[in-house]
Amino acid sequence: STMPPLLSAIANAGRHGVLAKSAVVMERLAQIDTVALDKTGTLTEGTPRVTDIRPLRTAGLDEDTLLGLAAAAEHPSEHPLARAIVSAAHEHGLPLAKAGGFTSTPGRGVTAVIDGRTVQVGSPAILDRAVGAGTEEAVRELEDTGRTAVVVLRDGVPVGVLGVADRLRPDAAVTVAALTRLTGRSPVLLTGDNDRAARYLAAEAGITEVRAGLLPQDKAAAVRQWAAEGRRVLMIGDGVNDAPALAAAHSGIALGKAGSDLALETADAVVVRDELATVPAVLHLARTARRLVV
Ligand code: ADP
Ligand code: MG
Repeated sequence: STMPPLLSAIANAGRHGVLAKSAVVMERLAQIDTVALDKTGTLTEGTPRVTDIRPLRTAGLDEDTLLGLAAAAEHPSEHPLARAIVSAAHEHGLPLAKAGGFTSTPGRGVTAVIDGRTVQVGSPAILDRAVGAGTEEAVRELEDTGRTAVVVLRDGVPVGVLGVADRLRPDAAVTVAALTRLTGRSPVLLTGDNDRAARYLAAEAGITEVRAGLLPQDKAAAVRQWAAEGRRVLMIGDGVNDAPALAAAHSGIALGKAGSDLALETADAVVVRDELATVPAVLHLARTARRLVV
């Protein structure tokens, strides 16, 4: 065709299921030497399921009450963990109580008021000073088997722990291998999740470098640190929690199918087909186009 190489690279990327927002994006993608990946919804399918419901004996709740309480608080959240908890409650046929005063803290969890009591659902990091009998043991046991532990607090007191498990995307390992070949180094997993669950999944995908327990601004700080070392970083993510890192990166690619609006707006390219393996394919295209231009 008579199209300039970078434009035809955009068209080709589109055929692969990746929408680049400008020709500059293809130039930037051609320069990438470091890839950072989010975990939940990016390396994994992002449709985690509740596998364990563990009320703390001291709280006197049964399993359904604990699940229903967590689901009522999580109902407004678009986080994959929230969706897993709400679906589990539906599967158990539980009616959800009305929740008020909903707030969500990216990378942490949610808070809502239910029947006049404050309910917090989120990462074990929210436990801070409010550790109750048996909570830490339950959390550790779940995380050691690659699960994400979600803690539930009522009026600041832990009442139970839920275990949630997600699966790697079927093309996670081939994508990691292709990205490693293209850049000469293994991609780095950046996640807000706990270190043990993250390493368990990373190892399955062939990733050796993991930075866990990161808040959204920590993901962006990691990206900026590499940039300061002269690296050109591609960030791949899907969530609101990835937006700062997508913005800080030399180039950002968002996964479109389950991606949050903020991630899609912040990224400079969007994977519209729900396949992670389109990312190395497009990096390869970008490099080929640059060779034609130079
Ligand atoms: P990732 O980086 O793996 O996509 P996030 O940054 O979205 O993970 O979340 C990090 C951690 O914060 C989760 O593993 C979970 O512990 C907690 N979290 C965030 N949002 C929620 C929520 N709505 N409900 C429960 N836990 C949450
Ligand atoms: Mg995510």
